[in-house]
Amino acid sequence: MVGIFRQPVTADDIKARARELGADLVGIADGEAMDRHPPDPADPRRPSDVTDLDAGRVIVLAKRLSNGVARIPHWGDRTKFYNDELALSTLEEVSLELVFWLEELGYPAVIVPPTHVDPWRYDDDPAQHQSTLLSLPHAAVEAGLGTLGLNRQLLTPEFGPRVILTAVMCSVDVEPDRPRADALCLGPSCGRCLSACPADAVRHWDRDWEACDTHRSPYGFAKLTEHIATVMEAPTAQAKKDLLRTETFFNLWQSILRGSGVITGCRRCADVCPVGDDYAGMLRDALDVIAEDDEAKRLRLADMVRAEADGALPAGYDAQRRWIGELSAAGGVVS
Ligand code: SF4
Ligand code: SF4
Repeated sequence: MVGIFRQPVTADDIKARARELGADLVGIADGEAMDRHPPDPADPRRPSDVTDLDAGRVIVLAKRLSNGVARIPHWGDRTKFYNDELALSTLEEVSLELVFWLEELGYPAVIVPPTHVDPWRYDDDPAQHQSTLLSLPHAAVEAGLGTLGLNRQLLTPEFGPRVILTAVMCSVDVEPDRPRADALCLGPSCGRCLSACPADAVRHWDRDWEACDTHRSPYGFAKLTEHIATVMEAPTAQAKKDLLRTETFFNLWQSILRGSGVITGCRRCADVCPVGDDYAGMLRDALDVIAEDDEAKRLRLADMVRAEADGALPAGYDAQRRWIGELSAAGGVVS
């Protein structure tokens, strides 16, 4: 690309355009810094793995999820899945419009959506957790939008974890944002994400991703292959027909149609998180009481609080410290 074809543009111009198009939050990460700090060094997924040429900056866009459906307490309510899918579709359109705008200015750009997993990494095991080409929550932290929480969900000051993310990569020479130093998460002394999790997937600064996927993507590929196998194994033609007509198959069909229940699913941990300017006014009255809480969960959280008070932070925290941030006394922890 010859420089003369490029029109001057600043980070503020890009952010203003993204907001004008409909993004609620925008930050710009340094692609080289992300290359140097892959979230999982054993399985690095770096901007330069997607494109060598156009990964100088990673522009992270967020759209907030609606509060109305966050107030519906059941994790598996399909109205929630559909509403979130509409937010995702909107953000994808915003991202594409931003790409076209950047390219009109002379900067080729590439979208990394939250829906695209690398098929080359698929290992014939539908239950295996699949992740995106870049970890978008980690990219959002690099872009200064927030920090990771106890279960590694992204928390933002404005909307807590109630956002959906995309990234636009582009080698445009603008000033990048920096990660925040301090954690937004209140730690295990809050622990509301753990208390509310229907899959009991929340760990100490970590998550059991495969357990989470059973709820986060309840009608995804794993469920589809499982249900088709059940149909194939049914003993009679009538039993096979009956299984084809079940509510499970109806939900699978609807999910294939729109991605709701596949890409969007459980977000109970996000709904109940008290971080975010929206929580007190829009959510607390509906979400204060957590029906999924129980004694075993309370005991696990108490153990975590005790361990942290003794200075024993788990390996999961050490590995993710850059993105979780420094813990404070407000979270019951001083590291
Ligand atoms: S998305 Fe649902 S299943 Fe996954 S950690 Fe959050 S509450 Fe648990
Ligand atoms: S619910 Fe509490 S512990 Fe969980 S991510 Fe939010 S602030 Fe952190």
